[in-house]
Amino acid sequence: MSTLATPEPPVAPAPGTRWAPARVGTWSRSQIVYIECPVWCTEDHADSPSALEDITHYGEPEGMTVPSFLGDNDAHYSWWARIECDPASDDERMRAAHLIVGDDSTFEARLTVNMAHELADGLVAFIAAVRGMAHVARVANEADAD
Ligand SMILES: [Zn+2]
Repeated sequence: MSTLATPEPPVAPAPGTRWAPARVGTWSRSQIVYIECPVWCTEDHADSPSALEDITHYGEPEGMTVPSFLGDNDAHYSWWARIECDPASDDERMRAAHLIVGDDSTFEARLTVNMAHELADGLVAFIAAVRGMAHVARVANEADAD
């Protein structure tokens, strides 16, 4: 007679995670299970059914838009970013918490934490350049008004 080693269920979730309900199954047949969900995840995993291996964790998206005074200040460009991890992915980089950066297109850039820091450094430099250009334009407009 063989016995299968059945691990005891964890009493507490792993550090940086919490127990979250997830609906597993189909629309006609599903049940609620509890999964370890990263504390940064804002996804409602119990909202709609899915296979356990398809559950992906998502953080709250942050975004910005660039208006144009020639278009009723409508957004001319928009960017958004959020954290994601796909615990069942074959790709180690997808299993790790990483960032997705997207715009209004269907393309998304996936960034490791180091890549995200490099992007942030580039954006800070871009912000400084935009401020400098705004200052130059303001001074030029004030000179024209004299
Ligand atoms: Zn989650």
